[in-house]
Amino acid sequence: MTYQDTYATGRRTGPSAPYGGRPAAPVPPGVPRRGPGGRRALSAVFWLGLVAAVLPWWLATPPGSLADTTGLLTAAGRITGLVAGYLLLVQVLMMSRLGALERRLGGERISRAHRDVGATLLVAVLAHLALLVVGYARMEKNSILGQVGALLTHYEDMVSAFVAAGIMVAVGLTAVRGVRRRLPYELWHHLHLTSYLALLLGYGHQFSNGAQLYEPGPVRTGWIAAYLLVVAALVWGRLIVPLRFNLRHRLRVADVVAESPDTISIYLTGHRLNQIDLLGGQYFRWRFLNPGCWWQSHPFSLSAAGNGRWLRLTVKVVGGHTAELRDLRPGTRVWAQGPSGTFTAAHRTRERALLIAGGSGIAPLRAMLEELPPGAALIYRARTPADVLLHNELDWLAQARHTSVWYVVGSRDDPGPRQVMSPEGLRRLVPDLTRRDVYLCGPGGLVEEAVRALRRAGVPRRQIHLATFEL
Ligand SMILES: Cc1cc2nc3c(=O)[nH]c(=O)nc-3n(C[C@H](O)[C@H](O)[C@H](O)COP(=O)(O)OP(=O)(O)OC[C@H]3O[C@@H](n4cnc5c(N)ncnc54)[C@H](O)[C@@H]3O)c2cc1C
Repeated sequence: MTYQDTYATGRRTGPSAPYGGRPAAPVPPGVPRRGPGGRRALSAVFWLGLVAAVLPWWLATPPGSLADTTGLLTAAGRITGLVAGYLLLVQVLMMSRLGALERRLGGERISRAHRDVGATLLVAVLAHLALLVVGYARMEKNSILGQVGALLTHYEDMVSAFVAAGIMVAVGLTAVRGVRRRLPYELWHHLHLTSYLALLLGYGHQFSNGAQLYEPGPVRTGWIAAYLLVVAALVWGRLIVPLRFNLRHRLRVADVVAESPDTISIYLTGHRLNQIDLLGGQYFRWRFLNPGCWWQSHPFSLSAAGNGRWLRLTVKVVGGHTAELRDLRPGTRVWAQGPSGTFTAAHRTRERALLIAGGSGIAPLRAMLEELPPGAALIYRARTPADVLLHNELDWLAQARHTSVWYVVGSRDDPGPRQVMSPEGLRRLVPDLTRRDVYLCGPGGLVEEAVRALRRAGVPRRQIHLATFEL
């Protein structure tokens, strides 16, 4: 265990901070728990929807039609087409930021599901394309290239369908971790938004060529209704709800305070802040409406629980956008979308918690500490004393909420931190480790290492909650 006194240097902008350095609010009682029922219900709806998407093919296909290879290929092509159509709708629904989804699944789980469904969707689209091209080529005694040409020239809406498939491949490639990490968040985000085009461009060919959908009837009507519902969810979640939120709360920058040489806290004020239904550990997507930043929207967690007077985010400067935020002026209007996320005290499974933070990962954990029941423990990893953020507040919370706080300072190869982050080290600090929820937030390396140590120490996976600042 290492405890080091720290200092915070850096610049401070705006008038003398009316908010900085103070505890957020009188300590509120711990928030009640939210069970996993909603998540299970959504999972059941997803699988039922998948069965419903393929059922029309099952009902309309006579057993004899699958006797030869050509029949099998075209059947597999049709099934993968229906699966791809359904998964595309699910993908877009997950991008709609619908409150009901975000509350039950949380932004982190949605983005994990979005990645998994995205990969499956890509495989389904490519399989659909390949199987039908080969199947039709055999049926029409054509070469593969000749068949692609025939599809593009003789079949309605096929050019746009091929473009939609191309967009999905491109979006899929930028989602690959190695590629994604090399792209600035905003560029990746805008590239990703082009997948809406795939929904639009892929729409027509399903009805003009889809064996199960071109004839009017309940199947076609149901499929169109599903499209309309997804588009309605998009308009609701992406336009109407944020418009209402921002007109109601009219957020503005109140102050920007340096927490360390490369970290700032941004304080926001607005109207009716006490009516925002938020939990410590959640995040918003923020758009600061000044000339340099208005076109970018980035996710940042709240670093203090709701107190009805101000909101705060604590931001590490890592790239172009976060560098611009240091120069925000008090009074700048802010457009916010959220709150999102299930990385909260309400989603715990046990009464007590252990929080492990690395660097700016302290932000959501600091907010959550206000809402966890007394008796939580916090291990805060930082490279140097200057990297320990919000030190005074953490000490205040440690007293007010009977929380044990350990500052573990040093590089990952130093013997002290290595010892603490081992299964034995963790057990020594927190003997009832396996009976606690563990919340982890920090750089990917730290989170992975901590998960390994926790699992070896016997902490069940369902008690481990992760936030890696990656969507
Ligand atoms: C749900 C969620 C909550 C978040 N909450 C916070 C928060 O409370 N505080 C905070 O500081 N950040 C938070 N982030 C990360 C934050 O959104 C990004 O740091 C920010 O968008 C980077 O924008 P940029 O243009 O400055 O950097 P970019 O140009 O997009 O990125 C520059 C480089 O920094 C890397 N990078 C990105 N984020 C981090 C990071 N946090 N630490 C180290 N390297 C990074 C990128 O991989 C890239 O290589 C959160 C992210 C998510 C998804």
